Amino acid sequence: MNTTADTVARRTGFERIDGELCCDGFPLSEVARLHATPTYVYSSELIREKYRRYDAAFGDTAHLVCYAAKANSTMGVLGLLAAEGAGFDIVSQGELMRVLHAGGDPKRIVFSGVGKTRSDIAAGLAAGIRCFNVESLAELERIDAVARELGVVAPVSMRVNPDVDPHTNARIATGLKSAKFGIALRDVKDAYRRAAELANLRVEGISCHIGSQVSDPRPYEEMTEVLFALLRELDADGIRVAHVDFGGGAAVAYRVGDPELAPEALVERLAALTKEKAPYPVEILIEPGRSIVAEAGVLLTTVEYVKPMEADADCCIVDASMTELIRPTLYDAWHRIEPVAHPARAGAKPVNIVGPVCESSDWLGSRREIEVAAGDVLAVCTAGAYGMSMASNYNSRPLPAEVMIEKGLPTTLRERQDVLELFAAERAPECAKQGPLDEEAFERVNRVRLAFLNAAR
Ligand SMILES: *Cc1c(COP(=O)(O)O)cnc(C)c1O
Repeated sequence: MNTTADTVARRTGFERIDGELCCDGFPLSEVARLHATPTYVYSSELIREKYRRYDAAFGDTAHLVCYAAKANSTMGVLGLLAAEGAGFDIVSQGELMRVLHAGGDPKRIVFSGVGKTRSDIAAGLAAGIRCFNVESLAELERIDAVARELGVVAPVSMRVNPDVDPHTNARIATGLKSAKFGIALRDVKDAYRRAAELANLRVEGISCHIGSQVSDPRPYEEMTEVLFALLRELDADGIRVAHVDFGGGAAVAYRVGDPELAPEALVERLAALTKEKAPYPVEILIEPGRSIVAEAGVLLTTVEYVKPMEADADCCIVDASMTELIRPTLYDAWHRIEPVAHPARAGAKPVNIVGPVCESSDWLGSRREIEVAAGDVLAVCTAGAYGMSMASNYNSRPLPAEVMIEKGLPTTLRERQDVLELFAAERAPECAKQGPLDEEAFERVNRVRLAFLNAAR
């Protein structure tokens, strides 16, 4: 089978070549052999393509695409997007540091989040970010105070809670008035008036984010109505903004045929509405996260055991779990799961695909009608967003490896976490048996660690 980079014309995304599932033309079974599992694999081509589609859809409309870093904040992913000239939407100091280290331009960073600490604000000001998306009147006062102490002027944009129903999963809706996000409509004008009074604030924009997995453009249309009505009222008070930030949220299809919102459909609609209805010309910002990276990633996992069950589904226990991909546990999310070596074959009995973590809610797929056997490598698809960025060390499980296929070949974005790193920052209290370990205990630890490492090869 000729599937090496030299012999096969470069392919984009995930497709089967001679039956084998490949990423940008590179066989996933080979990634599993080289890196063991669980391992995330990303298509650099798909990430770049999605970002470029967003960027290009604006045409000559003034705009900035701020990738929402929380969807996947791995340095290699941020770096690829920084190289494309992307902006970033961040929600923490950690994400700020990641974006800066990845080469992101601070002038293209917007800082969202309902709980910004004084140190978050100071860090954002020190970096010289584009603006803070302000989520409460109290935060507005705090940003002014921190800016005054530092002797700088802070750029701000009010994140409006427009009370719009995005018709998505309740756990990812953010723009209803019952949500903790954004400034309530009735307070927004006061926030702008207050910002105009405060000497260390500069009004930069107005922003909004209604939720995630939004497949219908209508909630966005409702949101633009609300924002432009506010801009007209503010204009009458002599307050103007330079940009309008419509947030993220475009849906991707986890199942074939699921409704999705294409970058072109969203951007063209937003640009047209802005041109038509904004009271004066503004730059458009958007904050897509999921829709840039979700389809570009899979999680590779190996079947450890298939346990026959009395119930109407057998139990397929794999080496990945909710610690690598928590979306099924957290949102009942559905991910396509396929063997990498050959197309899925119908099994005799459905299987529940579960992880080794000691929680009943640790599952990746339920009642899948596919044939599985111990040793099979499976791809959990559409896992590039809110996968690795939500991974945890629960059950003292090391974080998985991450690989990107770049120019048809795998490159390591993250080594699998070493078991010793799990507790490297922890300290023993007085009452514990104190280290340093004697020679015999140290030898024992090392033997065990080597056993882990060898088994993973
Ligand atoms: C999460 C988030 C986004 C990205 O949402 P997606 O659904 O991943 O596109 C954008 N803006 C803000 C403020 C967010 O919290």
